[in-house]
Amino acid sequence: MKILVINAGSSSLKYQLMDPQSGDVFAKGLCERIGIDGRLTHKAPAKDVKVVREIPMPTHAEAITAVLDILMDPVNGVVSSVDEIDAVGHRVVHGGSKFAGSCLIDEACLEAVRACIPLGPLHNPANLLGIEACQKIMPKTPQVAVFDTAYHMTMPPKAYRYAIPDEYYENDGLRRYGFHGTSHRYIAKRVEALMGRKDLKVVNCHLGNGSSLAAIYNGECQDTSMGLSPLCGVPMGTRVGDVDATVLQFIAKNYNKSIDEVMTILNKKSGVLGLSGGVSSDFRDLEAGAAEGNEKCQLALDKFAYEVKKFIGAYAAALGGLDVLVFTAGVGENGVLMRQMICEGLEFLGVKLDVEKNKLRGDERIISAADSKVTVWVIPTNEELMIAQDTAELAK
Ligand code: AMP
Repeated sequence: MKILVINAGSSSLKYQLMDPQSGDVFAKGLCERIGIDGRLTHKAPAKDVKVVREIPMPTHAEAITAVLDILMDPVNGVVSSVDEIDAVGHRVVHGGSKFAGSCLIDEACLEAVRACIPLGPLHNPANLLGIEACQKIMPKTPQVAVFDTAYHMTMPPKAYRYAIPDEYYENDGLRRYGFHGTSHRYIAKRVEALMGRKDLKVVNCHLGNGSSLAAIYNGECQDTSMGLSPLCGVPMGTRVGDVDATVLQFIAKNYNKSIDEVMTILNKKSGVLGLSGGVSSDFRDLEAGAAEGNEKCQLALDKFAYEVKKFIGAYAAALGGLDVLVFTAGVGENGVLMRQMICEGLEFLGVKLDVEKNKLRGDERIISAADSKVTVWVIPTNEELMIAQDTAELAK
């Protein structure tokens, strides 16, 4: 089976053509600068192909056409006709409370995704553009929506409700939804397979440019650090994480800014980028800066590690213990120093890192000491595989 996985942003579109059983990736790539000019980067690993092409992409429809063209290209492609693509799986960021799982796309599903736009105004419109472009160009191919929020729908009300007047929840659905759900679900499944059992208390740290933690018991999400939007929780590359709401009011009043302008500051100029005095949102740059004595870079790293550590402690308390701690995503998989900084001081919880084993990047491996009560894993995430598997299942 060949499943095309699409992750559409407002001006970009990532794709992977893959086998949902083996996880083999036939081809993958990225369309950038949609609506501006258009550039396609395409790779077919088995053929040792890497192509970069400037292709006009006024809308997502031209981007999808360019993707299909290159996938069917006799030299650089991996299929001979569009009929070889069995189904398309789309990453959709916000599924509100409606979707606790993935959904075969029909008019009712699309209506429900559109109804979630007020909850996910930054992401859902772009995801819809990707879906609509595929429907137009591949009308006979089944399409499936896989939601970032769906995995978190098992949270109990005490975890997902905000302590704001009830009517905002009842009328508008203002609550914690959580994101990176497809990644957290992949990790929960991998932990079950690797540990050989499900009844485990797990904290998964998805640490990348965007970061979130999930408290997992029995494979199900009990709590997660992102909320109504991906803005809250731990500080991120450019997002602020948890912050006193009064900060918004202060910036708006004292700098004469609108709420939207303040939100842009909190989404795009904060996090470790803001803390480092604008040096970088990339942890590699921050580590390099700190090593050269830049105190702001050091503070950004310290703050990030401190907040992640606090969430681990909070979730261990929420779960009533901790059996497995997982690091995943860009920083989690590669950040040797950051993993060490986070684990330092968690010995009281039973976390004992093996400093030598921790010196790895990108492999799936235990990094805790043999006598650590908590098993600490690095597990590379694979959201695309989850999307492909859900898509294959629903398109059957
Ligand atoms: P992601 O959003 O999951 O793709 O993660 C991207 C982030 O991973 C980048 O912003 C980097 O800060 C981080 N990253 C990648 N490689 C390393 C590394 N070797 N050490 C520390 N951080 C890294």
